[in-house]
Amino acid sequence: MTPLRINLEQEDIPTHWYNIVADLANPPAPPLGPDGNPVPPEAMGAIFPGPILEQEMSAERWIAIPEEVRQIYALWRPAPLCRALRLEQALGTPAKIFYKYEGVSPAGSHKPNSAVPQAYFNKIAGTKRLTTETGAGQWGSSIAFAGQMFGLPVRVYMVKVSYEQKPFRRSMMQTWGAEVFASPSNLTNAGRAALAADPDNQGSLGLAISEAVEEAAADPGTCYTLGSVLNHVLLHQSVIGLEAKKQFDKIGLYPDVIFGPCGGGSSFGGIAFPFLADKAAGDKRATNLRCVAVEPTSCPTLTKGHYAYDYGDVSGYTPIMKMYTLGHDFMPPGIHAGGLRYHGDSPLVSQLLHEGRIEALAVPQIATFEAGVQFAQAEGIIPAPESCHAIRAAIDEALKCKITGEAKTILFSLTGHGHFDMASYDKYFSGKLEDYDYPEAAIAESLKHLPKVG
Ligand SMILES: *Cc1c(COP(=O)(O)O)cnc(C)c1O
Repeated sequence: MTPLRINLEQEDIPTHWYNIVADLANPPAPPLGPDGNPVPPEAMGAIFPGPILEQEMSAERWIAIPEEVRQIYALWRPAPLCRALRLEQALGTPAKIFYKYEGVSPAGSHKPNSAVPQAYFNKIAGTKRLTTETGAGQWGSSIAFAGQMFGLPVRVYMVKVSYEQKPFRRSMMQTWGAEVFASPSNLTNAGRAALAADPDNQGSLGLAISEAVEEAAADPGTCYTLGSVLNHVLLHQSVIGLEAKKQFDKIGLYPDVIFGPCGGGSSFGGIAFPFLADKAAGDKRATNLRCVAVEPTSCPTLTKGHYAYDYGDVSGYTPIMKMYTLGHDFMPPGIHAGGLRYHGDSPLVSQLLHEGRIEALAVPQIATFEAGVQFAQAEGIIPAPESCHAIRAAIDEALKCKITGEAKTILFSLTGHGHFDMASYDKYFSGKLEDYDYPEAAIAESLKHLPKVG
């Protein structure tokens, strides 16, 4: 029988995370402060604990995963690698399609892979409380769960429009004991300023970051956590690709192409980087491997952004980082893949794209839901709208194989289930979902506000 679900044992949960910084041709560009100089680690010590900062700056190839973290990972890891045989048959493609399914975690996505170690390292460093922001609620629920595992109180600033539209993500966070506030809130200067300018401000991820960072910076016992973008988050997510490699070894296959949805880049880095390590090590199987980050055409950071220094948030509280960006004050259209509405991207993913080691692709919203429904009808799992971007790309690649007759092995990252996103599916079914034009003018305007460097 064709292996359809390639399982591993609990002892196969990786013992070390993989850090791609060790395999970069050029060192990463350092984050810069307001004076244009690299930010010293101490300066970030106000919002991040020591062990996380060490990982953020590390160039070590392998970093040990604490046993306490592996114990929590074991609640859902190793995550399954599945062959989408019924989808292949529906498409009539000679390609083999595999997906790594991260929706089996308690929060329903890949995000707890980093939330758990972030909570753990904060706990051992003596942090008393965590703050964070959340857009659609995926990261907020992951850090609420992780905080609960280690007895750390969590405060979440949730983008107001999601707070109102996604009450069940909020209830999930509350179930795991977190406090949740709609952002902009009255609790911070950033929030109060936004409300003073516009009492109906619906919030944005960049603004919620400003609130969570401001609170952490002001209180010595409070630290901030971020669910994507930063090096340590991509490091933690490498468990995805490390497991997938073991699973492919088990069946004697190797992917020709990997697709992952890309918002801040953490799940894409997580699945792709361990395979890029093979390439760096001269593994023949990886010579022609393509890794493709898939993003929405309405928030086309990697495909239309500038590779430049920019802030991570709207208010300019964060250090500036070299990354692909649409400008920190760009407000993306209200697409339903909330996790992909970010103006910037991971500096590591950005650098690899800039150096030509990975590729990027943008896909329109309606086509992603078409792909998600086709996938659900063949394979059963209802994907998160973010994940639908990778599915669209994987299906298109499989359809190309049908024309060329190539029996490629395609891997994509199924980053989460869509059980909390059914309102978006409803919109799709009722024909109310829109394809937004590429917001060229708005992007051009916000790119004028990039910080000047050097
Ligand atoms: C947050 C999220 C993403 C995008 O975030 P990355 O850091 O780019 O991985 C993708 N899929 C799901 C299900 C998410 O929750």
